[in-house]
Amino acid sequence: MRKILIVGGGTAGWMTAALFGKLFQGLYDIELVESEAIGTVGVGEATIPAIKKYNELVQLDEPKFMRRTQATFKLGVQFVDWWKPGHSYIHGFGIIGQDWEWLRCHHYWLRANQRGRARDFADYSINTAAALAGKFMHPRPDMQESPIGHIAHAFQFDATLYARYLRGLAEQHGVRRTEGKIVDVTLHESGDIASITLEDGRIVDADFFIDCSGFRGLIIEQVYGAGFEDWSHWLPNDRAAAVPAQRMAEPSPFTVARAREAGWQWRIPLQHRTGNGYVFCSSYISDDEVASSLLESLEGTALADPKFLRFKAGRRKSSWVKNCLALGLSSGFLEPLESTSIHLIQAGITKFLDFFPEREPDPILIDRYNEEMSFQYETIRDFIIAHYKVTDRDDSEFWRYCKHMSIPDTLAEKIELFMSRGEVKPRWGDLFSEVSWFAILYGQGLVPSGHHPIADAMAEDDLELTLSKIRSAIKQRVDGLPSHGDYIRSCCAAEQAMTPA
Ligand SMILES: Cc1cc2nc3c(=O)[nH]c(=O)nc-3n(C[C@H](O)[C@H](O)[C@H](O)COP(=O)(O)OP(=O)(O)OC[C@H]3O[C@@H](n4cnc5c(N)ncnc54)[C@H](O)[C@@H]3O)c2cc1C
Repeated sequence: MRKILIVGGGTAGWMTAALFGKLFQGLYDIELVESEAIGTVGVGEATIPAIKKYNELVQLDEPKFMRRTQATFKLGVQFVDWWKPGHSYIHGFGIIGQDWEWLRCHHYWLRANQRGRARDFADYSINTAAALAGKFMHPRPDMQESPIGHIAHAFQFDATLYARYLRGLAEQHGVRRTEGKIVDVTLHESGDIASITLEDGRIVDADFFIDCSGFRGLIIEQVYGAGFEDWSHWLPNDRAAAVPAQRMAEPSPFTVARAREAGWQWRIPLQHRTGNGYVFCSSYISDDEVASSLLESLEGTALADPKFLRFKAGRRKSSWVKNCLALGLSSGFLEPLESTSIHLIQAGITKFLDFFPEREPDPILIDRYNEEMSFQYETIRDFIIAHYKVTDRDDSEFWRYCKHMSIPDTLAEKIELFMSRGEVKPRWGDLFSEVSWFAILYGQGLVPSGHHPIADAMAEDDLELTLSKIRSAIKQRVDGLPSHGDYIRSCCAAEQAMTPA
């Protein structure tokens, strides 16, 4: 293994290039080929806290990265109208309240709630309470006893600027970029990829190929025919319209996902603009209807025409075949509801590093990698499906379909367990924790009949006192936090970006 060729320069390609360049320090020759004429998907603005791990690995300077990508902080996602019109809840990152030994705080809250003695669930999460108040501050690791020690954050950024920023980092570490459209792929007799051919006749060879070519899956699908597991019967949205708009107010530290007639609409506040998009199922609504309803709902003037994208929810049956690994959209796509795609790129890269082949990739390594990535995709898939299935909405064909569709057994089991004891028991390696499952299942209107039996061990008065202490500690801390906008201005504002229109 001497040379690695990355095919594609979207978020997946440049995330891979920046990390490989940093980690390999010249050990391997790394080249990236991309075509400006083809371009990138150009969306993908919201992330989850796991991205901080990637940032650490590439040793990214956070304030600089935020200025360069016009980024804001994200404490969670606000789901509006998902359970039923008029209702909203926040899936806040991080913990709820304070955990006791091994028992999660939400079981105590559930017990109090079942006796009608708990307050709004949102009051017990520092992330949710801060999000609702429009406040933000980095967590203080020296304050583990305080809610301030537990603020968990991610970022919202401009996807095009992010790829550009990572490109700069990758090139600093010696990654070479080649502009050109790939028109052919040549194989060795063994079936391994030998080289790619560009439109102008140049041939680029390598020992290993990372396919980051987007939905088309230039090598993984078009050469190897890895196959696609279609999940559109569970996740029927197949199209999206995206439009940037002027930002009219201070940026909120969370993404909004508003349920719509035939899908949902995102609102992602950045420093220089707000990202908006309507993700929908084309069997239930036309492009024209989506465009007008999206444009009508914007808070500020649209900065471009809506850009339409087509996709299918599912995953490549194998992401790694012979000497080719697919990352990003070429390895699969679950719709963007919980901002998990960039995370799946990161998970794919870091898992590949763990399984990094020495010479000829061992088939056992390849099988294990593919199994582990398919587990990742499936657990995230179930979490996203739950948002559609668990709803009282039946006010449109789309929502009636979602409410009555069949669901994977793995999700049905989780819902059943949740109903009896307020927990789903995620398996080791699941991206979403018990607390995240609780936030969304309860937020979507499921009320468990029981709770963990050990929550009964606390005396009734102690339970009330403890919950009320948590609530007031969170309130007091949130009151003292700076506003999200002020915080950005104090540490990481891009020039001339923070003034709302
Ligand atoms: C509507 C929507 C909203 C999304 N929102 C989010 C979100 O909020 N959060 C999140 O985490 N993810 C989100 N995603 C997913 C996210 O956009 C992608 O995971 C991410 O952008 C990675 O894309 P990519 O690099 O795999 O593909 P692309 O951006 O499509 O890049 C493909 C690259 O391959 C190159 N290429 C292709 N063919 C050739 C060829 N023949 N020759 C040379 N080069 C070629 C292209 O030029 C390009 O550089 C969203 C996706 C969609 C569709």
